[in-house]
Amino acid sequence: MHFLVQTKPFRDETLESYLLRLTRDNAYTDYHELADIIWQRLVECDHELEGAFPLELKTANLYHASQSSCFRVRAFKLVAQWAALEPLELIRLSWLRSNTQFGHLSALIRDQLLIPRTLLRESHIPVCLSCLKEEGYIPYYWHLKPYKACHKHKMQLQSHCAECGELIDYRASERFSQCNCGAKLKTTAPASEADIAVSEGLSGADAHDLVGKLTWFAYQYGQDQEHASFNEAFIAYFKYWPDNFFAELDEKASRAREKQLRPFNHTKFDSVFGDVIKVSKVAGPNVLRTNIIVDSLLEFFSDLVEKNPKQKHPNIADLLVNSSDAATLIGTTLEQVFRLYQEGQLTCCERLNKNERLQPDRCVFYLRQVVELAQSQGRYVGDFKNQLITPW
Ligand SMILES: [Zn+2]
Ligand SMILES: [Zn+2]
Repeated sequence: MHFLVQTKPFRDETLESYLLRLTRDNAYTDYHELADIIWQRLVECDHELEGAFPLELKTANLYHASQSSCFRVRAFKLVAQWAALEPLELIRLSWLRSNTQFGHLSALIRDQLLIPRTLLRESHIPVCLSCLKEEGYIPYYWHLKPYKACHKHKMQLQSHCAECGELIDYRASERFSQCNCGAKLKTTAPASEADIAVSEGLSGADAHDLVGKLTWFAYQYGQDQEHASFNEAFIAYFKYWPDNFFAELDEKASRAREKQLRPFNHTKFDSVFGDVIKVSKVAGPNVLRTNIIVDSLLEFFSDLVEKNPKQKHPNIADLLVNSSDAATLIGTTLEQVFRLYQEGQLTCCERLNKNERLQPDRCVFYLRQVVELAQSQGRYVGDFKNQLITPW
């Protein structure tokens, strides 16, 4: 089989946008008709592919396919062949599930851009009408929650229909500049500087750094990335980074000193600083050590240890951290932390029974030791996580 009109995808186009243009160029009534025909042809070629091609445009992207994703990949390769594309072209346009995570958040990858899945818009996709007038397709960055203004036209993306007031989604209406109710989209409004700055970053080559910061800011401060003022708050915050972050942590340390109930070497880190180390992990993919927030935390706690040297009376640098937080600060894995403990490089505040495994959330290590160990491991060399070398 071959499509009569062999539509070519744009480099930054979404899979759904391409499939819609393929439908339109080949004069099918709607996506469903295209999918039906592809479905039948696939079964003729390879019986295993029955059901491998998505009938719903909204769930067409590869990350929606769970168990059957290898069949969907095979199906997409055949469809690419029928459209005279490179075999992996449709897979390149898709968001794929990645085997890494941003902290506890699952990750997706599209053409080398790795993002937490939570960054993708689910229920609606806003559009720039000026872009659509120039080239009729949807770029992938319109799917990202903090991308609120067109970085080319400096205008707000349009997210609502002026007629019915509903949020717009081209995957439902199957028209790029038309709402599901049939009304043509019209109005546009100028964008704020913050929205334009974030959009420029997200569509640029260094988007991965920004993606991490945006995610961390939302989780650390309970901010909604879809809120109209999110980017304003984000830009204003990072203008004073990291001094404002350090001031907040200092404030927490002083409050703990005032209200101290137990000696610090019996006090859990979380009860003073909350889950700041755990949340910092969402700022970067777990496989990498490059994480600007973790680096800043380590800088702050190194300074705290420096200013509060070991003395007869325990001080704030003697707080107890759990093994998961220790792994984050040292830039290694939980298994390696356990090994450090077994080798006597990390002292545990409680006696562990023989064969007892360390629970990730059990506070048993001294902050001071963890920071000193992180400093001694040469954390800043290379990109990948520390595989600690045995001393012999
Ligand atoms: Zn535009
Ligand atoms: Zn409408």
